[in-house]
Amino acid sequence: MSFQSPVYNSLKEQIDTMVTIVAVSKTKPIADLQEAYDIGVRDFGENYVQELVDKHEALPKDIRWHFIGHLQSNKVKYIAPFVHLIHGVDSEKLLIEINKQGEKLNRKISCLLQIYIAKEETKFGLNEAELENIIQKLPELKNVQIVGMMGMASFSSDSQIVKNEFDTLKKLFDKYSSLSIDNLKMETLSMGMSGDYKMAISSGSNLIRIGSMLFGERVYKNK
Ligand SMILES: *Cc1c(COP(=O)(O)O)cnc(C)c1O
Repeated sequence: MSFQSPVYNSLKEQIDTMVTIVAVSKTKPIADLQEAYDIGVRDFGENYVQELVDKHEALPKDIRWHFIGHLQSNKVKYIAPFVHLIHGVDSEKLLIEINKQGEKLNRKISCLLQIYIAKEETKFGLNEAELENIIQKLPELKNVQIVGMMGMASFSSDSQIVKNEFDTLKKLFDKYSSLSIDNLKMETLSMGMSGDYKMAISSGSNLIRIGSMLFGERVYKNK
């Protein structure tokens, strides 16, 4: 299956113009991304560093690349020169490395702090104490710009659970919005995927990460 343009167009019509749609294209071939690009998609989300590097090389340079996966510190250097936004900052160690690479490139790299909101142990993210600790360190990390928060809700059919998790993240986002730190400004709240974006938006999300709804189900090799 290729890129579902009618689905994308109707999604755009449904949602507020203030909500950014990131087309999550992981595992999908370049041709599918090119199709999306041709109808005007400029924000793409990828989870794997090598795949992102390859796609960045092959596709037009005005694409805004969002790294939405779990990022290992030793791989930051490969995406640091061109990445638009790193969504999954979930440790101080990672943020320090992003800052170091930003310094080398004389670039301020935009990041979201990933917050742990789900009940699933497999998911990544900061708890509130870790969040506090990272925020304390920000004045020393001049080559990162924190522009918001990201979270993933539990994979649950109980919509009340999902709603509570999104609401929890929105409250945290609002709480930190009042802070005045040069390199922290809460603007982007990244929450919501194909299965739960409506609920995420109703809880205050302004960036949704949509994969399978736009590109079809993913097939993973070697898994
Ligand atoms: C894969 C992925 C998505 C997209 O998920 P869909 O359910 O296919 O829309 C969104 N966010 C993250 C962090 C992902 O890893």
